[in-house]
Amino acid sequence: MKEFEYFAPKTVEETLSLLSRYKEEAKIMAGGQSILVLMRQGLLAPEYVIDIKGISALDYIAYGEEKGLRIGALTAHRDIEKSQVIQKHFKVLSEMERNLATIQTRNWGTIGGNLCYGHPTGDPAPVLIALDAKLKLAGPGQERMVEMEAFTKDILEVDLRPDEILIEIQIPTPKPHTGTAHDKLMIMQGDTGIVGAAISITLSPGNGVCEDARIALSGAASIPWRAKEAERRLIGKAINDALLEEAGQIASEGADPPSDVHGSAEYRKEMIKVFVKRVGRMALERAKER
Ligand SMILES: Cc1cc2nc3c(=O)[nH]c(=O)nc-3n(C[C@H](O)[C@H](O)[C@H](O)COP(=O)(O)OP(=O)(O)OC[C@H]3O[C@@H](n4cnc5c(N)ncnc54)[C@H](O)[C@@H]3O)c2cc1C
Repeated sequence: MKEFEYFAPKTVEETLSLLSRYKEEAKIMAGGQSILVLMRQGLLAPEYVIDIKGISALDYIAYGEEKGLRIGALTAHRDIEKSQVIQKHFKVLSEMERNLATIQTRNWGTIGGNLCYGHPTGDPAPVLIALDAKLKLAGPGQERMVEMEAFTKDILEVDLRPDEILIEIQIPTPKPHTGTAHDKLMIMQGDTGIVGAAISITLSPGNGVCEDARIALSGAASIPWRAKEAERRLIGKAINDALLEEAGQIASEGADPPSDVHGSAEYRKEMIKVFVKRVGRMALERAKER
């Protein structure tokens, strides 16, 4: 690994001032679970590494009915998985985390690092899109909000300027009669998903018709991809298996998955049909219970 200068700031302000000074020559490190792999492989060779894991002010989980859920960018996957508040109000997040990597990686890897890495098979992004999350970014003298849906631009490319960091993930409290579910195709427990689906369904009280639906997929394109046409197939209808199959078919036709050692594009397209139907059923059942 190429030598680099190492900084361990303890505040966001200190971090931003280092980023302003070193700009593109610097790289942020949070849990190091992805960036260190790239550095070891020689794919990334920053002059300066800014290790932000010690900024305790960005490690928190806070919930209020009105404000919804707030997660600090440096919160470890394992803390999200184990949080009582998340298990109670946002069970899908805890379930997603339980299937992400190994306990060792979950102990060190952070939710913010995962999102900023911008990998199309990352598990948190589709779940956060289904939950309509927003991200708070901090730059010199200002903060800005970005929809999770618009944050990933391409493979390993996100909407972050070289002098900005992600500080918080904000998730609104879901409407009543909303159910959200996630599942992914993995060869072994904790594997990176070949494809994954996160689906949120809101039912109209009384008649059980689908009032809103959000379908977000991983491994289906170069970014976490929202299957809007498939969503439209569900909205305004009483959802049943046949309709979920149609939504899966539409999502599969619209997807543009890669072919790699884990599966061909054709295989992924078939699996998208299976997972939209399977996860859609789970989300529907949950929406009926709430
Ligand atoms: C063996 C293994 C298996 C894995 N399996 C899965 C899986 O199944 N599903 C899955 O989704 N992920 C998986 N991952 C990814 C992992 O869990 C982490 O979520 C991910 O590596 C990033 O977290 P990190 O905190 O370690 O980030 P780092 O590696 O420290 O950083 C990743 C990138 O984000 C940037 N960054 C980090 N934090 C910030 C911030 N706050 N603001 C701005 N930029 C920032 C860094 O500069 C870097 O470019 C796996 C990783 C490993 C090693």
